[in-house]
Amino acid sequence: MKYLSTRGGMAPLPFCAILLEGLAPDGGLALPESFPQVSAQTLEAWRALDYPALATEVLSLFIDDIPRDDLARLTHAAYAPGVFDAADVVPLKPLYGQTSLLGLSQGPTLAFKDMAMQFLGQVFEYVLDKRQVTLNILGATSGDTGSAAEYALRGKKGIAVFMLSPHGRMSDFQRAQMYSLQDPNIHNLALKGVFDECQDIVKALAGDLDFKSAYRLGAVNSINWARIAAQVVYYFWGWLRATSQSGQQVSFAVPSGNFGNILSGHIAREMGLPIRRLVLATNENNVLEEFFRTGVYRPRSAAQTYATSSPSMDISRASNFERFVFDLMGRDPDRVAQLWKQLAQQGEFDLSELRPQFESRYGFVGGISTHADRLQTIKSVYDRSGTLIDPHTADAVKVAAAHAEPGVPMLVLETALPAKFGETIQEAIGQPAPVPGHLKDLAGLPQRVRVMDCDVAQVRDYIKAHAAA
Ligand SMILES: *Cc1c(COP(=O)(O)O)cnc(C)c1O
Repeated sequence: MKYLSTRGGMAPLPFCAILLEGLAPDGGLALPESFPQVSAQTLEAWRALDYPALATEVLSLFIDDIPRDDLARLTHAAYAPGVFDAADVVPLKPLYGQTSLLGLSQGPTLAFKDMAMQFLGQVFEYVLDKRQVTLNILGATSGDTGSAAEYALRGKKGIAVFMLSPHGRMSDFQRAQMYSLQDPNIHNLALKGVFDECQDIVKALAGDLDFKSAYRLGAVNSINWARIAAQVVYYFWGWLRATSQSGQQVSFAVPSGNFGNILSGHIAREMGLPIRRLVLATNENNVLEEFFRTGVYRPRSAAQTYATSSPSMDISRASNFERFVFDLMGRDPDRVAQLWKQLAQQGEFDLSELRPQFESRYGFVGGISTHADRLQTIKSVYDRSGTLIDPHTADAVKVAAAHAEPGVPMLVLETALPAKFGETIQEAIGQPAPVPGHLKDLAGLPQRVRVMDCDVAQVRDYIKAHAAA
């Protein structure tokens, strides 16, 4: 299995060669040369597997430069019982009728990003050890991604994490979650500024090429291919749990921002998994909903990006979208490069002539959910089923309802637990969300964080003094 770039300017490379990279050298994103195919017989043979064993099967189709026994060790460590708070890692929880939740939020940070990040932590450590090199992960976070990365990389050999966060601007829960980590390789730097200033410092240091190569700076952003591949596994898992017969179709509803999660669903469908519809839900930031409705892709400016009550979907552009457009363009890298050139010049591109294919060929449908929809959905799901859902999951439940079909199971991806978004839950049902037992004492734990000014030089000096050995 070799990987190429969506824009055509990268020689084919094996998995481990692209693992630690961000964008391809030509500015595109890495993708497999072709999607592996899974037959109906193979799918049936996978019914008896537990989650780590299924992950080994699916990931081995994308990763042929790690020996299979080693890969199995990595998946079993990533999806171990002590890491995920559910015996089967990803529980299928019936809501009502044909609609179920696929529970992706049983990991340490209570959100679906743990699913991919835990595997990433294992495979990073493995590849760095083989090559006898170290890596310093630098990132900025306003909450979710940073904590998932820290929990995945804590204690890993050869890796240090430097996570910048805006001092005093995260929720008590988020702060306690990140800052209570005591692992010496995890460095929380709380900067006296806002999130964008933290991000600017990351950009300045990553753009300082001498510093970047001398200190082996890396990132764990949402375009990382290993994250996309690891997410493909739970679409297979969900289908296996929701069906009893070969060929039976199910639909998935996915709350979307950067198009990472649902891209993995698209890939599973292209591999032959019997998926009927991929229902894409956005919040008020509807860049993707607009594309699937009109065929026009029109990223927004920061000023046009609203702060909503499903904050992890508040994006202005969808970083992973280019990978889907590559397929839409018949896998022609020249056409993709052309579109992104046009995007840079004109701020949008128009594929409305392909609109009929979105659903008929690829299964995609979309919809918007607003703050009022979110509150109403959280309340009605709670009243109807006794299950409390988080605001992001609520967006998907709302949009899923418009696309449900008789006889087709609808699996809504549960991307976070309600405990993370207490304020909105309180607003929706008039009472707080329950906090999982093992996190009740989180707020009382000692915190390990370095507060400093928003100053590139100070952050650089800190990294120099604490870089991975
Ligand atoms: C990141 C995130 C999303 C959006 O996922 P994408 O892969 O960016 O589309 C949705 N819900 C939650 C809770 C998230 O953390």
